[in-house]
Amino acid sequence: FGSKRHSRNERKEVDSPYFKSMQVEIEEKSERLRVWCWVPEGKWETGKIQSLSDDESEILLSNGKGMKVSPEVLLPANPSILDGVDDLIQLSYLNEPSVLHNLRVRFTQNFVYTKAGPVLVAINPFKAVPLYGKDFISAYREKQTDSPHVYAIADAAFTGMMRDGINQSIIISGESGAGKTETAKIAMHYFAALGGESGMESEILEANFILEAFGNAKTSRNNNSSRFGKLIEIHFSSIGKICGAQIQTFLLEKSRVVQRASGERSYHVFYQLCAGAPPDLKDKLKIKEAMEYDYLKKGNCLRIDGVDDAKQFRLLTKALNAVGILKEDQTKATDGRDALAKAIYASLFDWLVEKINKSLEIGDNCCSGRSISILDIYGFESFYKNGFEQFCINYANERLQQHFNRHLFKLEQEEYMEDGIDWTNVEFVDNTDCLNLFEKKPLGLFSLLDEESTFPKATDLTFANKITGHLNSNPCFKAERGGTFGICHYAGEVSYDASGFLEKNRDPLHSESINLLLSCQSELPKLLASNMTSASQRKSSRRTSFSAQKQTVSTKFKAQLFKLMQQLEGTTPHFIRCIKPNSRHRAGLYDSELVSHQLRCCGVLEVVRISRAGYPTRFTHQQFAERFGFLLVGPMLSQEPLSISVAILQQFNIHPEMYQVGYTKIFFRSGQISVLEECRSRVV
Ligand code: ADP
Ligand code: MG
Repeated sequence: FGSKRHSRNERKEVDSPYFKSMQVEIEEKSERLRVWCWVPEGKWETGKIQSLSDDESEILLSNGKGMKVSPEVLLPANPSILDGVDDLIQLSYLNEPSVLHNLRVRFTQNFVYTKAGPVLVAINPFKAVPLYGKDFISAYREKQTDSPHVYAIADAAFTGMMRDGINQSIIISGESGAGKTETAKIAMHYFAALGGESGMESEILEANFILEAFGNAKTSRNNNSSRFGKLIEIHFSSIGKICGAQIQTFLLEKSRVVQRASGERSYHVFYQLCAGAPPDLKDKLKIKEAMEYDYLKKGNCLRIDGVDDAKQFRLLTKALNAVGILKEDQTKATDGRDALAKAIYASLFDWLVEKINKSLEIGDNCCSGRSISILDIYGFESFYKNGFEQFCINYANERLQQHFNRHLFKLEQEEYMEDGIDWTNVEFVDNTDCLNLFEKKPLGLFSLLDEESTFPKATDLTFANKITGHLNSNPCFKAERGGTFGICHYAGEVSYDASGFLEKNRDPLHSESINLLLSCQSELPKLLASNMTSASQRKSSRRTSFSAQKQTVSTKFKAQLFKLMQQLEGTTPHFIRCIKPNSRHRAGLYDSELVSHQLRCCGVLEVVRISRAGYPTRFTHQQFAERFGFLLVGPMLSQEPLSISVAILQQFNIHPEMYQVGYTKIFFRSGQISVLEECRSRVV
């Protein structure tokens, strides 16, 4: 029906009402015939609609197969011109198969980053991709590219901090093995490239390397799995140079030192030490092969494919020197790994973090108070068997999810409502109920666990029975038999085995062990021992067991998380969602089902929906009038901010669809403000 092809005669006919109605009918029909759609055929397949009636449609699938389905199950597919758009908000049809398809198209071309409105989706390539390094960093720094990237997020955080003077945070989430820790490193490299004072930027990278050696291990999900959470707060001087950093760590999985599942390892550092210590050190510490240690042998896994532990050890030594940890202390510390292994190790880890923080302390000459925090916390975990560690880790993920929901859905929509603009609410999966299940007093999981932990006669089974008795009717709780129970997390249902819960929560430490450490020759074990006892001794003079006086592990963890959340609330958040394309750690393999599960869990589709419908840029009338008022030409009719604002909108011909005027603010759709900003920058 292209008008150019119509002759004069035809054009006459076109004007007749009869022809018009016929034309509409034909157009509609041919429109339908042309339409590509998604058909649920096991997995989603594309097909072309051949005929369509109310209760049946004939489809020709791309593979040539024909089929008849109910029209209700079909979802519209996007035209191929939209294949691989770099922000999902550009898709005409926003449904799950379209999003999955778009991500797959990009993934196969090594574009592992895609925007979902304000959120960066990062799919783990499981191979080196040519997207990093100096040239890329400069390109983002100089704004020569706006292709989605961790660098773009890091740059937005940096720019936001410098421009508004508000601290920023980069919150990285995703399942175990999805790429969080790598992503955090990529962001850190970006900041390091901006430069620092007295080599501070490289020291931060070395510190990170040390923490990985001591806090990461091979698990069934990830060869380099972080067994602790970390928040790295990078401080900047007023001219935007790194001038220091502080690292907070969360709940190291110390049980790993003595036990773990088959195919998993203890912390990297042990294997590195055995493989890489030079002969004199080996002699001094009487180090044997890793396979000769029971602690390291457990799990039946000593090596990781493609990892050279000896080389890693040399790098570790270099890193330790870089952050100024003394040689005597290095021989760190690795000595006492027998009876008290767990406690020593956790205490050693804390000591290490403290040392690192001392070395990264913010200099006196740098008090701009500006910072960017990078949060890399262990991802949601659901194994065949899940214990106390998974219970805590998954709780932490619920908290993070709540933060995400709050910023991207709740606060956003509340602001629209409060300012009285025209808005239809976008639904999202609220996880408040699950958090309540954990936190409610006195009948939440944590309270009940702490209560049971104080009863001398309690067992893991009585704990499981107790929570089942109290929480059975809670929709987020699933009663199970034989000392196990289920929790419906935002990311799926997980079944927990209560065995070990009470012991791990009490975390008792006996005085004989501490005395043993105190009697050591070298200084570090003594220091660690006194760190372990000081807190408990202050509260009690009893020397038999410290467990009764100590705060339980879950209480401490909960308090840490609250503090973390408070800290994050004071920052402008940037979210990165890491996605694992397959469970086999393989490059080039895209398992749609697995990806779609992760997208669903973290509400990516809803975020896209809200950003497409929403108004991400906003100014108060006052701010807007002050920022752009001077661009007005012609006489000003009123000094009132609202009138000035409206006059600006009119002068620049901003389409009414593209903004809304609220009671106190003006809201703009994404990208609308750039014309005004450009104009302003030309004048200023
Ligand atoms: P998580 O911290 O989410 O558990 P990691 O960041 O440790 O996961 O990533 C797991 C593994 O995936 C890494 O050891 C690395 O092999 C691979 N990986 C992750 N991100 C990337 C990336 N951007 N490029 C190449 N490989 C990656
Ligand atoms: Mg990690």
